[in-house]
Amino acid sequence: MSDALSLIRPDLRSFRPYASARRTAPVGRIRLDANESPWAPPGGTGALNRYPEPQPAALRDRLAGLYGVDGARLLLTRGSDEAMDVLCRAFCRAGLDEILITPPTFGMYEVCARLQGAGVQYLMPAAPDRLRPDLSALPEACGDRVKLVFLCSPANPTGLALDPEAVLVLCRRLAGRALVVLDEAYTEFADVPSLAEQAGREPNLVVLRTLSKAWGLAGARIGVLAGAPELVAFLGGLLPPYPLPAPSVSAAVKALSPAGRRKTARRVARLRAERERLAASLTTLPVVERVYPSQANFLLVRLKDPAAAAAACARAGIVVRDVGAQPALSGCVRITVGRAAENTRLLDALGSA
Ligand SMILES: *Cc1c(COP(=O)(O)O)cnc(C)c1O
Repeated sequence: MSDALSLIRPDLRSFRPYASARRTAPVGRIRLDANESPWAPPGGTGALNRYPEPQPAALRDRLAGLYGVDGARLLLTRGSDEAMDVLCRAFCRAGLDEILITPPTFGMYEVCARLQGAGVQYLMPAAPDRLRPDLSALPEACGDRVKLVFLCSPANPTGLALDPEAVLVLCRRLAGRALVVLDEAYTEFADVPSLAEQAGREPNLVVLRTLSKAWGLAGARIGVLAGAPELVAFLGGLLPPYPLPAPSVSAAVKALSPAGRRKTARRVARLRAERERLAASLTTLPVVERVYPSQANFLLVRLKDPAAAAAACARAGIVVRDVGAQPALSGCVRITVGRAAENTRLLDALGSA
């Protein structure tokens, strides 16, 4: 048994997935096996009367090419949120097992764990000016009950990236004990390389990617889990039978065409340039205490007067995310990098605060 499979909940090891009509490609042309309607729906939205492929091959092949990862190592999910959820279900027994997170971090890891009845351990930041988790201290902080370690790089909401080598070292130190789940939702905007190719090669490493950020497909809900093929196959059996809506899949296939990839690369470059312009300008404003360096498409900004800044943004009709309640982030907001004109409006508003 592979390392990752050996950590699966013992009571799930003999789990038999629901056998849907479309788990294998249909061989006949007359499909009377899935109780579908024989007609496309009214309204001309296309042939949505058929159930979609559970793991659409065309999209998986494009993602495999994009990430440089064999298709058998990829699981497509309804956003990476669903991947987090299925990981918690598969690895954590309610009331017994735990996950470990590194606050300040993305809120969904804890939500998924709590929903599953799993406990949550925290590796807290050493100081407000040391927001990057200390991976060398993590194995000692990681109790015996921890089955999943969620890392985010670049992290939401700090924008800080982890050293990929340090993540690989951590995987080896946790081998046989816990699975490392590296959430790379913002990796397209980063200077550090993705570890997707190492997922599963490093037996206890899983990497999460998404089409929600750089690819502009947040509304389509397409997430990707990269990991060992046997883990991918097992987790696929835990998902609902037809997780990915057909319109979402066709939108994603189009976005990942060669032309779509070129366009996305240009947009990522523009957002990265805007990120640097915005960061430099924000730093000069009296209301701003600190702009953290970011590897993502947002900036973490500490404000001297959060109330005045919030009022100025509200007057200008600009919404930013208040993250001040998170550990070590009091007075901080997270600002998404928008189009140049939007960013300029934000700078004007905060300049008047
Ligand atoms: C936005 C985001 C995601 C993406 O979630 P989807 O369900 O794929 O839209 C994942 N992780 C982090 C840290 C994020 O900020």
